[in-house]
Parts: sequence; C-alpha cells; structure tokens
Amino acid sequence: MTGKVWGTSCLLAAILLGATATATRGEVVPDGSRLAGNISIGKSLRIPPADIPDGYGSFADLNIYLTSGNSPQPDRIAAALRLAQKKLDVCRIFLRVHSVNYVVGPPLLSEWESMEFNNGLSPWERAFFSLTPRRSAGVVFVKRLDWTIGRDGITAVGYGGYLEEETDYLKTSRDRLFYRNHMAGYAVLGRSVGESSLIHELGHALLGLRHVKDRSNVMFSGLLARDDDSGFNERQCARGRANYPWVRPVPDRQMVSARPFPPE
Ligand SMILES: [Zn+2]
Repeated sequence: MTGKVWGTSCLLAAILLGATATATRGEVVPDGSRLAGNISIGKSLRIPPADIPDGYGSFADLNIYLTSGNSPQPDRIAAALRLAQKKLDVCRIFLRVHSVNYVVGPPLLSEWESMEFNNGLSPWERAFFSLTPRRSAGVVFVKRLDWTIGRDGITAVGYGGYLEEETDYLKTSRDRLFYRNHMAGYAVLGRSVGESSLIHELGHALLGLRHVKDRSNVMFSGLLARDDDSGFNERQCARGRANYPWVRPVPDRQMVSARPFPPE
C-alpha cells in the first residue's frame, strides 16, 4: 500500500516563508527560568487536509514546529515523513501534515531539555507546550536535546501517553493534565538524528508504544542499531489505532473502534 503523504511543495513554501522570521527576543539563563513568556508561534501555514486514500482506516494530523536555524532541509523532512508513512502502512494509519509553524524564541529553546533529564517537567517543556493546541500531535525540530549532557546527548524524544503511568516525572495532577493535554502526541527531534528516528519517536508519541527487545521492530531500543527493514507488528498497530485522540478512525470507515476518551 502506498499513500500520497501530502504536498511537499506546501512544506517547501512554508519553510521559505519562515526564512525571514525574527529569531531572537531575548537570551535565557541555562535553567530556562526566563523562557516563559519569551516564546511565541510566528509564521504558520495551515495545510489543506489531504483526502485519506482507500485502505487506511485511521489517520493522524501532525503539526510541524521549526525552531529558528535548526530546521532540517524540507526534502529531508519530507523523506522522513515518507519513510514514516511507509512503516505505518502496515497499520493502515495515514499521516497528514496539518500545519507548519515557526517558533519564535530565545536561541536556547533549540537546546531542548526533556523531563527525562530533569526528573520532572522542564521549563522548556512547560513554556513550549503551553502554546500547542490541546490534544494535538506533531513534531518539533530543534538543534539538540539536553544541553546538560553535552553535544552528543540524546537527540530525540517521543512523548507517549504511557509515560504518565510508568514514570514519576509528572509529580502533581496538574502536571499530569498538562502532559496529557499538551505534550503527549509530540516528538522532539534534534538536528543530527537520522530519518528513521522520526518513526520510532512517533511510535511513542502517536501510537503510545513502549520499547521492545526485537531488533526487527521499529520500537527496538538498545546499543545495537535497528534493522533497516524494521517494522511494527499487528499488536502494536492495534494499540496505535486505538490511541485516540492522536490517532483517529476515518469517519465512515469503521475498520477499528477508538478507545473511550480518557477523563480530563
Ligand atoms: Zn524510544
């Protein structure tokens, strides 16, 4: 099954549009305490929704966020999304780009700090994700993740709903609600990650999947590389298709039923 992903030309236009966006409003201290209020969404391009081809029972809309100076080339983003679609074809989940957005913020925003290294929500995460639409999904492109652990640190993260149950990073019910409503569904990728990282992180973020030990699986994590032809299995697909609201059933194609909306 091959799906038309979306118009690459739209993305290219959006990226050229943003080339003149103002980059800096102010500097921040490394603890991020001055991030709040210093970040806004600049130019934004809403992509007209593509028709979902026959054969896909579910779909996911992605918002793409580009931080100044750190966007991969449009053709690289397009290639990563095409590869992600190829891997999601087995799950019959169609990916659409809903919007492309320029993030206006201090340069240090591009040095993303994730909750995994802060033992709790970071100022980066709170400041940025307070701007994203509720219960949306997408990808944020930054320079790198976690300046605290150096240049070669972790380069990508996928905020899956399961982290709420499996970690103690979310300390209060307010944090848990913030995560559920604004962060879950998003992947953050550093500039140096390979194209195959996108689908692994979307596996966490969109499909809500955990790591596995099988190298032939997209969700393998370990010191060894994943197999080139790694894929999802049907059990993972089923879980992903039920991960509403980030993955939605296509109306009138009742191939799968969504899980009830979690309580807010
Ligand atoms: Zn992972």
